[in-house]
Amino acid sequence: MNRTLYGNLIFELSKDGRRGYSLPINQFGDFELPAELRRGEDACLPECDELTVVRHYTNLSNNNFGVDTGFYPLGSCTMKYNPKINEEVAAMPQFQSIHPEQPAETTKGALALIECLEHALCQLTGLAHFTFKPYAGAHGELTGLMTIDNYHRSRGDVSRKKVIVPDSAHGTNPASAAVCGYEVVEVKSLADGTVDVDDLRRVVDEQGPEIAAMMMTNPNTLGLFEYRIPEIAEMIHGCGGLMYYDGANLNPMLGACRPGDMGFDVMHINLHKTFSTPHGGGGPGSGPVGVREGLQEFLPFVSPYNGNYAVMMKAYAYILSLGKEHIGMVGPLATLNANYVKESLKDVYELPIDSLCCHEFVFDGLKDKSTGVTTMDVAKRLLDYGYHAPTIYFPLLFHESLMIEPTENESKETLDGFVEVMRKIAEEAINDPDTVKTAPHDTPIGRVDDVLAAKHPVLTFKQLRDEQD
Ligand SMILES: *Cc1c(COP(=O)(O)O)cnc(C)c1O
Repeated sequence: MNRTLYGNLIFELSKDGRRGYSLPINQFGDFELPAELRRGEDACLPECDELTVVRHYTNLSNNNFGVDTGFYPLGSCTMKYNPKINEEVAAMPQFQSIHPEQPAETTKGALALIECLEHALCQLTGLAHFTFKPYAGAHGELTGLMTIDNYHRSRGDVSRKKVIVPDSAHGTNPASAAVCGYEVVEVKSLADGTVDVDDLRRVVDEQGPEIAAMMMTNPNTLGLFEYRIPEIAEMIHGCGGLMYYDGANLNPMLGACRPGDMGFDVMHINLHKTFSTPHGGGGPGSGPVGVREGLQEFLPFVSPYNGNYAVMMKAYAYILSLGKEHIGMVGPLATLNANYVKESLKDVYELPIDSLCCHEFVFDGLKDKSTGVTTMDVAKRLLDYGYHAPTIYFPLLFHESLMIEPTENESKETLDGFVEVMRKIAEEAINDPDTVKTAPHDTPIGRVDDVLAAKHPVLTFKQLRDEQD
């Protein structure tokens, strides 16, 4: 990376009169824009030669960190490798150039692909139907809860105003329930990290006729398998509620078990996590919702057309390229990788729940708390060593949560490299804590003030100038 150029905005590199474009010869003759459409003064555009532009953006792109540049163990987000063939398939002009308003008889291939993907997801989940309209996981949750709401209403059962959510749930679960107009009832977790079934029984006994659904993630947000699902499903169904499965991270389940078989009625999947479509920075996503037979008529209309089609194509390409033979290895390998990293580090990082995990696990900071080095410091120091930080301070069950998800694609060598660096940071925390506490040192920008950045974001060029003046 050319560090001398870093920090310059393209506007700062601008020199009056510099030109860097070559346009094709105009074959259509001159055309005057109507005066009322023309701006009064020239647009404030940077003036640069082509080489300056190429270097500027190439240097910027080098500051990006992605799955294609390095290990990205961001727990709960499943940042797995996205095979390039997915992109090639999604870029095929036969699909890319379709307009959603095109007559259906001209888009039969594209519609068939949706059916094929639906069929594959039904096979993988044990549910009967999927809608692809939701644009993300949280949108899927809302869609699923609206489906459940429609179902209860169709039976004249309008007193069910509550949704049960375990305290370990992803924050979107209670949020979606609230957006859907439900009251959230929290159930506790046991010391082993799984749902406290006795606490749940108490809730069901007291409030059964008001329970619309229970939302669960399995493996839960701690990466632990909820082994009492059949019992829980029986309890919820017994009081007339439905079981909702948050399948954002279906990774460890592929090939291991199916939500439909466990007693879930409605679920969403994050195609952009489990099914290898690139995500980050807010998109693009796809959160298809699956239902068991009989509930499909209650699926609501939450967006026009057929959802985020390119994401669906990538997911389908991924499923086909693994095939029936290999897709079942995803879950076991993701689980193996996570347990390997966990076991290799648990003597120096605090493992609050020491059991077999699924695709991810959570440390509660460094084991040696006397150094004052926090999870934030460890995460920042990892950047110096060229790794993306794990998820930090989530889930909220521990003070110093450090949530690691390696995914199934990573080789033993990559995992060993990460383990070595994590151990090195643990040593530094004891021998040279200041270096860790002031990290990162080797990134273009050092430690930022998170609070100030959140409370007072400076997002525009002009504002940035004004601030500095
Ligand atoms: C990522 C995630 C979600 C939310 O998905 P979005 O696509 O970000 O809306 C919900 N639940 C769990 C468990 C997740 O990991």
